[in-house]
Amino acid sequence: MTQEEMWKAVTENDASYDGIFFYAVKSTGIYCRPSCKSKLPIRKNVCFFDTAQQARSEGFRPCKRCRSDLLDYQPIKEIAEKAKQLLDDSFRKRCKLNQELRHLGVSQHRMSEIFKDEYGVTLSEYVGNLRLEEAKRLLSDTDTDIIDIAYSVGFGGLSSFYRFFKNSTGLSPAVYRKEYKK
Ligand SMILES: [Zn+2]
Repeated sequence: MTQEEMWKAVTENDASYDGIFFYAVKSTGIYCRPSCKSKLPIRKNVCFFDTAQQARSEGFRPCKRCRSDLLDYQPIKEIAEKAKQLLDDSFRKRCKLNQELRHLGVSQHRMSEIFKDEYGVTLSEYVGNLRLEEAKRLLSDTDTDIIDIAYSVGFGGLSSFYRFFKNSTGLSPAVYRKEYKK
């Protein structure tokens, strides 16, 4: 995250960054969460910290208003793991996924950054992989109709599934089944 992004989150009181970084104000000696509603400090007086501990070790005191000392510590790793778990559990449900990711409390943009940092792939690449592996399994291990496979791995229809499958494997689902059916 760049300082500009963090500053933007501060100016917007963006609660989705709470726990992800803290800002401190040199003129007051106080550190806050991004969502703190106190008066916006002057940019040049502000510095940023990844954790509350770091802010404290630099001599800043927690803010009484946003209680930056009480915030549950949400390590980024934990958020990434929760997202991964969520994707593993519900990649088949096409529409609900983004909605459920939102419940983890960070913005979609922030979530994709966190996920990529942690796992080296984007959210959609990760989900795509899960869908591909499941589709391959169903094609080679079962007699399920291809249209049903498309729906069951989270596609809205046959053509989007075909396109996706062909792009990823170089084969159409039907050809893949012919070659790999057990
Ligand atoms: Zn505050």
